[in-house]
Amino acid sequence: MKIVDVKIRPLNLEPLVALTVAYGSYEVFEYALLELVTDEGSPGMGEAAPDVAVTGETQASDIAALQAAREVLIGKNPFDFVNILRELEALIPQAPAARAAVDMALYDLMGKALKLPLYTLLGGKMREAAIAYPVIPLDTPQIMAATASQYAAGAKTLKLKIGGTIAEDVARLAAIRAAIGDQIKLRVDVNQGWGDAQTAIAAIQALQEFDLEYVEQPVKDSDIEGMAEVCHAADVPIMADESLHSPADARQIIARQAADMFNIKLMKCGGILRALEILSLAEAAGIPCIVGSMGESSIASAAAVHLSVARNILACEAIGPLFVKNDPATGFLVDMQRMFLLPSQAPGLGVAWK
Ligand code: MG
Repeated sequence: MKIVDVKIRPLNLEPLVALTVAYGSYEVFEYALLELVTDEGSPGMGEAAPDVAVTGETQASDIAALQAAREVLIGKNPFDFVNILRELEALIPQAPAARAAVDMALYDLMGKALKLPLYTLLGGKMREAAIAYPVIPLDTPQIMAATASQYAAGAKTLKLKIGGTIAEDVARLAAIRAAIGDQIKLRVDVNQGWGDAQTAIAAIQALQEFDLEYVEQPVKDSDIEGMAEVCHAADVPIMADESLHSPADARQIIARQAADMFNIKLMKCGGILRALEILSLAEAAGIPCIVGSMGESSIASAAAVHLSVARNILACEAIGPLFVKNDPATGFLVDMQRMFLLPSQAPGLGVAWK
């Protein structure tokens, strides 16, 4: 089997409501779709979901990166995926989301060729479903509390996007706890919003009474020293997200004891292959991991779910397909009652173009 064509097109994914986090607000997600056509069988599907604030990529830069990747891909056997991905790391080092699209399309092709779901290729299922939970966008205390209330009946856990001033974040948590009570677990994602370690330590202190499960990315992404300080001072576990891209980042964060938990995203690390390497480092260091998402369509979300059920992953945030108007694919399976994300039994990623 060899790759004979590489098809690339833009995807302008429209969320049902604008997603706001500490560093920006998104009305439309400007992504790219990839199709690897081979001389046999159905094509491999991929999605690049760049976030300029996190990976430095845009739709245009990823489309250019994927076009550059053509020369590496044409004529290759997808089963040579490790070499292909190494070549792409050299060719398009600044385009991890574009490389993630290639990575998942190669895995999709391998699964389709072997007639096996991707999780089987990754070593089999460790659990039947990936555990998800609602994510409440950053907003006023009243609006966030109202949104949280909508989920209160079903959800065991909510993730809240915070990261304003300490007073604002205390008001948010107070309003949400008042609305939903103290039975639902709350984890917060600061998205770097507290800036420095001192502010973060004070903020965590001020939020202590609201019983947080963990605090994600409290300080600036490049401030590993600050993360380590917060980690040392805080009683609540600290999760690295924007600070953690590559296996090399994971190694550095572990060495400097700068996080208790990892949020791994295919778009940050360049796909499943590198995500597995980060997971190995994390496992050796005793660091629990979740698999995050940029707010992706069914294609990249399916890749995240297969990875999440095949490894010891605490939770998977690939709930993008539930919140978009124009998903380009079908086949993403969700048990809404329990917020379980299920891997398809169909070969490869198990999704198909609409
Ligand atoms: Mg995050």
